[in-house]
Amino acid sequence: MHTTAPKALIVGAGIGGLSTAICLAQSGWRVQVCERAQEIREIGAGVQLSPNGMRVLAHMGVDLAGCEYAPQAIDIHYGTRWLSSMPLGAQARRRWGAPYVQVYRPDVIRALRERLQALSPEALQLGCEVVGYAQDADAAYAIDAEGQRHRGEVLVAADGVHSPLRQQMLGDAAAVYSGNVAWRSVVERAALQGEVKAGVWVGAGQHVVVTLLRGGALVNFVGVVEQSQWREEGWQLRGERSEALAAFGQWPLAREIVQCSDTLYCWALLHREPLPRWSDGRVVLLGDAAHPMLPSLAQGAVQAMEDAQSLAHHLAQHPTGGAVHQDAIARACTAYFAARHGRTARVQRESAANLSRFHRRGLAALATWGPLWAAQRVAPLWTQQQLLRRNDWLYSA
Ligand SMILES: Cc1cc2nc3c(=O)[nH]c(=O)nc-3n(C[C@H](O)[C@H](O)[C@H](O)COP(=O)(O)OP(=O)(O)OC[C@H]3O[C@@H](n4cnc5c(N)ncnc54)[C@H](O)[C@@H]3O)c2cc1C
Repeated sequence: MHTTAPKALIVGAGIGGLSTAICLAQSGWRVQVCERAQEIREIGAGVQLSPNGMRVLAHMGVDLAGCEYAPQAIDIHYGTRWLSSMPLGAQARRRWGAPYVQVYRPDVIRALRERLQALSPEALQLGCEVVGYAQDADAAYAIDAEGQRHRGEVLVAADGVHSPLRQQMLGDAAAVYSGNVAWRSVVERAALQGEVKAGVWVGAGQHVVVTLLRGGALVNFVGVVEQSQWREEGWQLRGERSEALAAFGQWPLAREIVQCSDTLYCWALLHREPLPRWSDGRVVLLGDAAHPMLPSLAQGAVQAMEDAQSLAHHLAQHPTGGAVHQDAIARACTAYFAARHGRTARVQRESAANLSRFHRRGLAALATWGPLWAAQRVAPLWTQQQLLRRNDWLYSA
């Protein structure tokens, strides 16, 4: 009988994979993270972490070390007209028990890596591309591009939207182009004139989100625009400034950011319908590999963190002091799916619905945004409470 703790293999060192490694290490598993990149150079973009994500970070003991920005509110505009603001700051903390923050993605990854390093110094294996998996009664195996097999009691596929492991498991088609491309850039706050506040600007067929990072020293721009054709997929593809100006130049702040951006990136937004299952025996999907979603609720990374905590919870229901029987692992993975699937499917649906709401035209836009504009003028406090209440299901869980 072996006495060492069982081992979890995790494929992918994104926010989902690193969070899973931390949560499992905290509950007594040995962990190995196989990441195909030779070095982790996380995309220079912002990410919003809502209170449900911040609670998972606290559970993991991850400290953002003051590099986050906690907006007091998010302003909502239709065209250039201010409609209302969703109050955050102290209200978010009071209502949902944790702050709502905006962070530079490399800072999140660094904080997660440092925490994992403290828990399990040897866990991260870079330059390890996993091309498939196998399993038997005793273990699961991640097969890398050199044909080497890495053994673990459970194998977590946190390998993103194009997950080759999901494809092996479900044999499904690629994620679908949503008909929208996203633009992004990050600029120094000091390069911009006037006031910069976190906000969303919606309009016919496009919208813009501006967030602040690193205590407000950096400004993050994301613009989404409908486009029938899409070019290659990938976070590092550059776009032409003139195209970004044509799409978003109607908004003065967006125009200014685009004009002073050194580099603008542009890529296709993909999504897929909820999957019928996330596991095959000892192999289980997590994060974008399981449920890619459009960014219009800012939840992809947060849901991946929730997945991580949930999976570790379900795997911890089984003894970790010896060999873990295949059925016990399979049952834990099924229980994790049962716990998470309904919620992530709802977030996928609501993200898509939010995107189409943001992009409404003509009378449909008037019917959507007119009541918010009117309510804010007649009953501002009530309106803001309504905006908060709309997010209770998401941020309180
Ligand atoms: C414009 C935009 C804005 C967004 N804003 C937000 C936001 O504000 N808040 C939020 O919560 N979410 C946001 N998201 C979503 C979020 O970025 C993703 O949902 C999240 O990063 C998914 O994390 P993941 O770990 O599942 O996958 P990924 O981040 O894709 O990580 C997958 C990892 O697996 C590695 N990998 C892939 N294949 C292999 C392989 N074969 N072998 C080994 N390693 C492999 C990759 O190199 C990568 O490191 C946004 C997304 C977009 C597009």
